[in-house]
Amino acid sequence: EGVDSDSKSAATRASQLKIRELDWDDNIGYFIKKKLRIWCQLTSGFWESGTIQSTSGEEALVSLSSGNVVKVPRGELFPANPDILDGVDDLIQLSYLNEPSVLYNLRYRYFRDKIYSKAGPVLISVNPFKDVPIYGKDFVTAYRQKLMDSPHVYAIADTAYNEMMRDEVNQSIIISGESGAGKTETAKIAMQYLTALGGSCGIECEIVQTNYILEEFGNAKTSRNDNSSRFGKLIEIHFSSLGKICGAKIQTFLLEKSRVVQLVNGERSYHIFYQLCAGAPLALKERLNLRPASEYKYLNQSDCLAIHGVDDARKFHLLVEALDIIRISKEDQDLIFTMLAAVLWLGNISFQVIDNENYVEVLADEAVRNAAGLMGCSSQELILALSTHKIQAGRDTIAKGLKLQQAIDTRDALAKFIYASMFDWLVEQINKSLEVGKRRTGRSISILDIYGFESFQRNGFEQFCINYANERLQQHFNRHLFKLEQEDYELDGVDWTKVDFEDNQECLDIFEKKPLGLLSLLDEESNFPKATDLTFASKLKEHLNSNSCFKGERGGAFRICHYAGEVLYDTNGFLEKNRDRLHSDSIQLLISCSCQPLQLFASKVLDQSQKPANSSCQVVAPGPPKQSVGTKFKGQLFKLMHQLENTTPHFIRCIKPNSKQLPGIYEEDLALQQLRCCGVLEVVRISKSGYPTRITHQEFAGRYGFLLSENNVSQDPLSISVAVLKQFHVLPEMYQVGYTKLYLRMGQVGALENGRNQV
Ligand code: ATP
Ligand code: MG
Repeated sequence: EGVDSDSKSAATRASQLKIRELDWDDNIGYFIKKKLRIWCQLTSGFWESGTIQSTSGEEALVSLSSGNVVKVPRGELFPANPDILDGVDDLIQLSYLNEPSVLYNLRYRYFRDKIYSKAGPVLISVNPFKDVPIYGKDFVTAYRQKLMDSPHVYAIADTAYNEMMRDEVNQSIIISGESGAGKTETAKIAMQYLTALGGSCGIECEIVQTNYILEEFGNAKTSRNDNSSRFGKLIEIHFSSLGKICGAKIQTFLLEKSRVVQLVNGERSYHIFYQLCAGAPLALKERLNLRPASEYKYLNQSDCLAIHGVDDARKFHLLVEALDIIRISKEDQDLIFTMLAAVLWLGNISFQVIDNENYVEVLADEAVRNAAGLMGCSSQELILALSTHKIQAGRDTIAKGLKLQQAIDTRDALAKFIYASMFDWLVEQINKSLEVGKRRTGRSISILDIYGFESFQRNGFEQFCINYANERLQQHFNRHLFKLEQEDYELDGVDWTKVDFEDNQECLDIFEKKPLGLLSLLDEESNFPKATDLTFASKLKEHLNSNSCFKGERGGAFRICHYAGEVLYDTNGFLEKNRDRLHSDSIQLLISCSCQPLQLFASKVLDQSQKPANSSCQVVAPGPPKQSVGTKFKGQLFKLMHQLENTTPHFIRCIKPNSKQLPGIYEEDLALQQLRCCGVLEVVRISKSGYPTRITHQEFAGRYGFLLSENNVSQDPLSISVAVLKQFHVLPEMYQVGYTKLYLRMGQVGALENGRNQV
């Protein structure tokens, strides 16, 4: 069978190969006779290869490669592929596309440093956690000139580039996978290829530097990845009509703000903080009153200040260089460092409880003085904003004292707001610098690096948003595969309107429906002063329990059936995180600060809250209403999907082979769980719906023609095929006849095979 992917779409080939798997039940006898290799699922859940000795009823006696003989239900046996298919480039080339075979094939390749494989139209990348010598100029050239054709990110980037030039259609490269799987590295590799096409080093270098800057401000060490991106990003690279890069634009999604103020043990805050503390030149250190990272509470709370093998001071110099290259002015750089230091000093502000009701006073120490000085306000103003809230009592405004937790929350909200606003502002400055000239070319390749599906023991608001995004992306993926299939059907003259494809619309509806969807109900509760996470949870149960994708659980929990599996969410913290409000006193404080960007950030919030709010969004203390995090994210996601829908997508799925961040270890259960979540096995499932069995008329007539009871005068394969189907009473809705092939629904060949065996 040809491996040429241009002649037939890969999705079709996936389906053709499925036929052999459908025959498995009929073929067990053959496997026994020929002592062919099979996979046997053990009670541990792992698979071991072996051969079947005999079967009786639903049980089979299997001799395992380890030497043991076990008795297992037939359902736990899967056909293995012949040795000659070991390590094929494209999973679709496998005769049997079951889970153990896919796992084994990827593992086989991984241990030979073949980290890239294909699954039909999808590129799979298994993180090597070491340098593999397959990148750089020579490889770029080899892929550009088609001297190499093994799966590679370069090949994907090359295809995207060629299709953009040829069809004048924008392209997208959609990268997903769980934390540490290699998305960001893969995105950089794709960019490396595209920027290498440009030759010179103008805007190309700037794009590379941009990546660097974004990582220092938006990445952090977590328990799963020393350089984990805590935001999603889309980089749109624009090309001139001659195919040269002429600009770029960055969009970011959902920066994890909580990391600025709160760390899990063993994790760090954003890289930039440590770099600034370690690497700032003396004059800057003095101006900002900077101390070592170990003296800042926001940084020292997690027992983790350094990353093995990383020199933060050196990285600070590289960062300044990068900022210079992208033409962020020295003044703006100074403002950025000032705000960073302000955040660090804010974190050191402490409170003293003054009475037995827990009311507090701010300790007027160096932290207050430094924070106020950097922000450009007086210590007194800062102290007031952090320890009291103004409230309206009749005509008068009075200052009400805060209790300890309220004061801490107010301080932390301010720090988070400053950091997140600064991040957005930096992205804006970068975009101005990379802006495509006035003449728009309309040609672009967008690279999406976004967190994959997440399912932990405890899942909160963050996972809720991330998984919602993944549900949307999955739909995009499904629809794209469907389109590929559809093109195949059309080419062969088959009516594809009779094909139902799987869709996850129902799950998406549960998030998006108005007024009774998850996001709407969340906003409604967020705007209701007396609501709590628990009242939110019971609202969900009340309105959504009839939906098959939703299950209310005890306490504040609920379950959603995602395409990748069921996830249990805990509503604890949902309302607060969705509101994400900054108290109006804090906004007033920022407006009065002499640090220009802070004024700007605060006035943006005011502008937003002065826009006519929708009816359910009345003014509620203690902060001006603003768009909720959930609604804002939904809006961003819609915009993103709209953008992606106008592109030809290319999908890359990154797999993390182990959770130790080490080379040479392949944990099967971990890999399997990711393959299930990222839709690689979905490619197979999707091609199963519709008419998965496709056989040329020739092949079909050759295999079953002799079963015809009457001698068919006509010798043409198409008529023979149709006659066979009629004789075996295959119902008309079970097949379609194309110009070249017969299209059969699942399970239709079984009957014919039986007929054949009986002769
Ligand atoms: P997160 O969701 O946490 O941001 P990620 O999927 O973006 O994770 P990366 O940061 O890209 O993961 O990769 C994690 C680490 O894996 C990298 O820092 C690098 O050490 C290693 N790695 C990833 N891809 C490659 C590769 N192609 N070659 C060598 N090492 C790699
Ligand atoms: Mg990343």
